[in-house]
Amino acid sequence: MLPLKDTDKPIVQKLLSAGCCARCVLRFCCVSVQAPYRQPPQETLELLRAFIGQKHDGKVQNSSTADDSSHDAAGEPPSKRAKLDPSEAAADSQGHACVCVVCLGVLQGLCGAEQAAKVAEAVREGNYDFDTLLLSVSLPAQLCVREHSCWLHVKKEVRDKGLALTKDDVIQVKEAFKWTMQGLIAKELGGVAVVTKSSFEVGVEFTHPETDSDCHFLGSSCPDCFKPTKNKQSVFTRMAVVKALEKISDASFLELYPCPPTRASSSCVPQDVQCLHASVFVAGRYNKFCRSLPQTPWLIDGERRMESSVEELIAAPVLSVFRADGFNFSSSGREDVDVRTLGNGRPFAMELLNPHRSRFSEVEMKQLQETINKSSDKIRVRDLQIVNR
Ligand SMILES: [Zn+2]
Repeated sequence: MLPLKDTDKPIVQKLLSAGCCARCVLRFCCVSVQAPYRQPPQETLELLRAFIGQKHDGKVQNSSTADDSSHDAAGEPPSKRAKLDPSEAAADSQGHACVCVVCLGVLQGLCGAEQAAKVAEAVREGNYDFDTLLLSVSLPAQLCVREHSCWLHVKKEVRDKGLALTKDDVIQVKEAFKWTMQGLIAKELGGVAVVTKSSFEVGVEFTHPETDSDCHFLGSSCPDCFKPTKNKQSVFTRMAVVKALEKISDASFLELYPCPPTRASSSCVPQDVQCLHASVFVAGRYNKFCRSLPQTPWLIDGERRMESSVEELIAAPVLSVFRADGFNFSSSGREDVDVRTLGNGRPFAMELLNPHRSRFSEVEMKQLQETINKSSDKIRVRDLQIVNR
């Protein structure tokens, strides 16, 4: 049973005939319980069709005889046969599974066990040390345009359901994606908690080159929302598109963009999964016993003046045990190269970027300190510890 009311019927009807997938229909019906999104979308589609009193394919099924099926198998092209297969109910007249006009496939084939296995595989390959995980999703900006078009398509019907419902009550694609995927990814990774706040973030990104130009009409209708910025490949960022959609009137939108959105022939393309662990900070004090050792690598006209530096001597062993991608080193005050730093030592701190290992006991930090101290007689480190930012 789907948590739908009679007032949802016209919405379901309109969305299905516009080419929305089952999960997008649930979203626009403002279904905010997670379980229905986790059902196989094909089953949900059947339930939705039954709900509005429609057989699959939108037609009354004729009971096919043995003769028909043998004829099909022998003579008809495979596309025609696929159309008769109940599992292909979301197929177009050529027998291809339809790509949802709103989520462009993100909540269809890209949101299930197969995709979860791929994400889990990328996480395992990264060989990170973590006990919770945050799943983040990046969608192509044009999805917002399609979402807006679809919202305008059913706005009246949604409003009729309840006075207070607005576009914000529609469940976001991102949310529905996470509700479906989090449990699957957790299972793939042996029960790790997928949470909303974690220092370990796993990013899933989708692009859809075929419909990139969907956003372009907004550039001429809301030019001040799209200012070129450095480091951005396109002015049509998600934020700019959202801003423009808030500004544009319904009437101008409907004049410039089809409602409901047009069908696309391909699904979104998943990009490489990005794993990122938040920085870890390590601090301590160092003494320098050598007058020919600079604090940081000393370069003049791109050439090294000294063979090493305090920062490099300390950083190398730390980077290697934390398996970090890089570091930022800072110490209190600058010193001239030819002075020694004696006494209690100079305080320093290091930011370790994207550490693949981040949890160390006091004993392990002591061992790391020993490793640094044994690696060179020019410096000595004490009080080495993990600190907060
Ligand atoms: Zn969809």
